[in-house]
Amino acid sequence: MHTHLRDPADGLLVLPQDGARIDRRDAERKRPEWLSEIWSTPGTRVLRLYGRRARLSGNRLEYESASGPLPEGAVALGAVDPAELPDAAAAAELGAAAPVHVVTVAHPKPADEQAAAGTTGTTWADLAFAGSQLTPLDAALLTQALAITAWHARTPFCASCGTATEVEVSGWRRVCPNCGAQTFPRTDPAVITAVLDTDDRILLGSAHRWETHRYSTFAGFVEAGESVEAALAREIEEEAGVVVSDIRYMGSQSWPFPRSLMLGHFAVTQDASVARPDGDEIRDVRWFTRAELAEAAEAGEVSLPTRSSISRALIERWHGSMIDAVSDAKPRPAARGAANGQPGPRGQQPR
Ligand SMILES: [Zn+2]
Repeated sequence: MHTHLRDPADGLLVLPQDGARIDRRDAERKRPEWLSEIWSTPGTRVLRLYGRRARLSGNRLEYESASGPLPEGAVALGAVDPAELPDAAAAAELGAAAPVHVVTVAHPKPADEQAAAGTTGTTWADLAFAGSQLTPLDAALLTQALAITAWHARTPFCASCGTATEVEVSGWRRVCPNCGAQTFPRTDPAVITAVLDTDDRILLGSAHRWETHRYSTFAGFVEAGESVEAALAREIEEEAGVVVSDIRYMGSQSWPFPRSLMLGHFAVTQDASVARPDGDEIRDVRWFTRAELAEAAEAGEVSLPTRSSISRALIERWHGSMIDAVSDAKPRPAARGAANGQPGPRGQQPR
């Protein structure tokens, strides 16, 4: 299984998507015929999304052959090494020249409804919960597919004049036929921070919108005109009342619910005693030693963010080993915001 605990030379966190190689083929995907060409290329693989989920076959994502006419809304994800796909042998039989193209097709209905409609026996991958069980390539392709699909779902009209927009660049640009405005699938930077004190304890918070006893790191969006460092200090002071310094960047993770880029950090406070919940978003804040957090998580008294999340990676990097949390074994209740698996910055809701 994936582990955060390998300490690479640069000291950054190791996250589920890290190391995946996807060539987005920026020069080629601009050609209007590109998507049709790769759709009819032998060996091309299709990653279908059903709501927020994809089918699993064993512990790999299920990639289908491309057949029939090019579906509406298909997006070219890029080219990958066929040896890293689960059906490498099948791709070779088809005579596919490396690399293999992957296209995503989104079905708006969630997986549960599809299952109810007869695809029983199918297992499903939800990135927030299964990401750490997937190969880096599967996790990266699923992340990319969810992110681009969420963007299309939220960008049907021109922000300048309100006209229905059209898709270009094999799914990577929308353009307004009336005023010509172009829209790109940008992402929202958010800071996510593990706050430590001078005794090397960790400060975690529990938000009102989560189930009780769930504790995690602090997260918030970078606002307009703000630096990452300023946003980090502001969010921590607002949510937990502490002033931080010694900010250390630890790595980033795309979190496509719907379009966040989580920028993970450690920060230190010189005065742990002033920590308090904000009384609005945060219900409780609590300092933990390593032993206290591990014991509480193993006893089920505290539930932690999913192992797929950068929040969990920050906590376990601080802890120095994996924490065997009771909460890892069960899916989270469908509480508002809980599907994110890690603290959503304010205003970030699951679809
Ligand atoms: Zn327009």
